[in-house]
Amino acid sequence: MAELQKLPLYITFATQLKKIPEEEEMKVMKFGGTSVGKPERMNEIARLITKDEESKIVVLSALSGTTNSLSEISNSLSKGDRVSAKQRIDALELHYQNFIIQLVKSEEAYNKAKSIIAEHFEFLNIILKISYSEALNKDILAQGELLSTKLFSVFLNEKNIPHTWLPALDFMTIDSSGEPQVGSIKVKLSQILQRHKGSTIFLTQGYICRNSKGEVDNLKRGGSDYTASLIAGAISASVCEIWTDIDGMHNNDPRMVKKTKPISRLSFDEAAELAYFGAKILHPASIWPAQYFNFPVRLLNTMQPEAPGTLIMSEAGSVGVKAVAAKDFITAIKIKSSRMLLAYGFLRKVFEVFEKYQTAIDMVTTSEVAVSLTIDNDAYLSEIIKELEPFGSVEVDSDQTIVSIVGNQITQTKDVLAKVFTNLSGIPVRMVSYGGSQHNISILISREHKEKTLQLLNKGLFGM
Ligand code: ASP
Ligand code: MG
Repeated sequence: MAELQKLPLYITFATQLKKIPEEEEMKVMKFGGTSVGKPERMNEIARLITKDEESKIVVLSALSGTTNSLSEISNSLSKGDRVSAKQRIDALELHYQNFIIQLVKSEEAYNKAKSIIAEHFEFLNIILKISYSEALNKDILAQGELLSTKLFSVFLNEKNIPHTWLPALDFMTIDSSGEPQVGSIKVKLSQILQRHKGSTIFLTQGYICRNSKGEVDNLKRGGSDYTASLIAGAISASVCEIWTDIDGMHNNDPRMVKKTKPISRLSFDEAAELAYFGAKILHPASIWPAQYFNFPVRLLNTMQPEAPGTLIMSEAGSVGVKAVAAKDFITAIKIKSSRMLLAYGFLRKVFEVFEKYQTAIDMVTTSEVAVSLTIDNDAYLSEIIKELEPFGSVEVDSDQTIVSIVGNQITQTKDVLAKVFTNLSGIPVRMVSYGGSQHNISILISREHKEKTLQLLNKGLFGM
């Protein structure tokens, strides 16, 4: 392993791609906030992780609502509002105290759980007295996953389920640009696993990691899925199971349309498009490790564990449209310039402005005299507009929604485009992106038309 560390990165990657045959296969099982959010849900997780003999790394999120509360605590502190920070800390502590009363039965387990809560809330109360910084914010946000995994560990012990609690902060690291250090994660994790050879159940925290300064950091909101996927890549897992409270990715947004159905199979590309364009069930970044290391991802439902859920793997399984998804809070920008006519290099200059402000572009359409594009992060909008103005007239439409029609080879599937537009005849469509990939047709509409659009497409494309 020490040699592995010295190898150039591309060789390290190549080594990771090959499975070592004599090594026993392991799987990753990740449980989200609602799956751990109630004492009886933890009981269900205990059942699910002991159902088969396969060794596994169990990744937990914080209890539902905790990260939001922690982020509000942090927010109050950043504004110097200690009173409301303290109120929120106390309310959260009470929530945990009630949680453990129902979680464990024995006096011994209860006392253990109580001291874990005391330890973490003492930390939060100390933080109240320290001056706020970004590093402190990250420390606060990390408490949720530490609490959930520690309490679950107490629960497993009470049930005599042998397991090893692994601190994610010992192996999960990101570099100075916030990217996970895949090679180093693999080396550290396999060293740790080596030290616990007899164990078959490992328990660790999603979301949290260490940054290049060695400080506590995180993989951004919803990042526990990403943790699970990075771990699955690092250990060449047989599968990465993402357990949530819905039976897989659905063909449409259940909050917007009456009937939806789970999608049984998706390719990595399709899943990436759906995760990115609005399907909240999976963190979009968790697809690339699966694609790179080629392990399957399964989206499963803790409330309905026998349901097949969604299987994501390299092959798409079938051809045609599989789902529509919508992404809100999109800003469309149109740059109109007669100088674009017959000119080359114009797009580069436009794109450079967005690059300068680290703002990703989602959709692009061009005509001979204008280019329209969309962004989902308007933090630097006014700076960007200022720099674009010398190129021509700039128009901005905010509160737009991208609706994506995702599937396998849909651009080659007969009549998809016709069906989309016949069904949307009453909806004003601002932009269309077709042919960028074989998996996606995206249209941009004003958000006020989103619900109607999703309903019309549900009928037109899925007959639902
Ligand atoms: N607890 C974190 C969040 O709520 C990470 C996660 O649940 O994936 O964002
Ligand atoms: Mg999540």
